[in-house]
Amino acid sequence: MSRKITIFWFIDALGWEVVRQTNFLQDLLPFRQPVGMQFGYSSSAIPTILSGQVPAVHGHLGLFRYAPEDSPFRLFRWLGPLMKPSGLWNRGRVRNLLSRLLGRFYGFTGYFQLYQVPFTKLASLDYCEKKDLFVPGGMETVENLADLLVRSGIRYHISDWRLGDRRNLAAARAAVAEGAEFLFIYTAELDAILHNTPSPQAPVIQAKLEWYRGEADELLKTCRSHGLEMRLTVISDHGMSPLTRTVDLMSAVEATGLVFGKDYGACYDSTMLRVNFLSARAEAAIKSALKPFEECGHWLSEAEECTYGIYRADRYFGEAIFLVAPGVQIVPSDMGVRPLAGMHGYAPEDKDSYAAILSNAEIPPEIRHVANYFTLMKRHVETRGRLQEEKVGR
Ligand SMILES: [Zn+2]
Repeated sequence: MSRKITIFWFIDALGWEVVRQTNFLQDLLPFRQPVGMQFGYSSSAIPTILSGQVPAVHGHLGLFRYAPEDSPFRLFRWLGPLMKPSGLWNRGRVRNLLSRLLGRFYGFTGYFQLYQVPFTKLASLDYCEKKDLFVPGGMETVENLADLLVRSGIRYHISDWRLGDRRNLAAARAAVAEGAEFLFIYTAELDAILHNTPSPQAPVIQAKLEWYRGEADELLKTCRSHGLEMRLTVISDHGMSPLTRTVDLMSAVEATGLVFGKDYGACYDSTMLRVNFLSARAEAAIKSALKPFEECGHWLSEAEECTYGIYRADRYFGEAIFLVAPGVQIVPSDMGVRPLAGMHGYAPEDKDSYAAILSNAEIPPEIRHVANYFTLMKRHVETRGRLQEEKVGR
């Protein structure tokens, strides 16, 4: 009997709709089902996948969070107003370079990008991904996949999320050849392509899926040549919804005359606005200003926040969250000044939101939410590893 190798391959934005419409890897991975996404975008989905915990527990929802007392960017209280003209400082290339420099300056090891967050607001914001989530200890109080694998004593390989798909798949094959028993492959390029072309039938999407198919075959070949039986499971985090319209919530909030940092705090993601009400009149004024947008969005109820795993009694993620309807984009937002053809981060129950799991082994029926991938990975690790007791305090 040949030895088994367990491979979990994460393909960002490989939604159930893409899988269903294209029959992606149908012959190689016949076991497949839709999976509920984690509410939020990649900044909440990745930590959920890597820990099996929801944002209420792991603390990652949007990348930025209104929290002046916790902000590492306090320097920008003085620097922000000096950064003029704003046109220059807001250029994509300038912001990318600055993101790299700042990430290094602050010692962040995780993914760091300023996007279009106004420099004048930065001093009031905290950033959630200061640490590399993929390495041991990367999620502080929560056990992540790397912690689990170290504890199990099995030989493992986790992709470097900073690298492109080609290099990560080559590294995965090398790891198979070097005797790894468990692989977590990370590939994120499909997400970027779908943001521009959110149509599964488009040639550019077909070409990428075709390329993934070739890579899956290569992986299989490599395993076979080393006498290994490959247990391959492809997982994703969410789907992609085509743009239907944009809404300018920022102007509506600013037209109230309320002052950011004094009356309210706000983080504008592409699909949700998270608000903190600081002064007595802020809540009524903002809710009334956004009334016209309730035809294409709504304030999340406490029950919805609980269902989505984002409810925190301490209102860590903001006091109120306004979520837009599938297809609608908040423009401008802290994420961008222009809409994209496709976006994710809508209600998880929308058909275009669903993530997918595909495998060459039967998928346990309880794998219904992206948080459940961790349960599945843990089960694989437990059957092969020598799991030590979890560290005290975890
Ligand atoms: Zn994306």
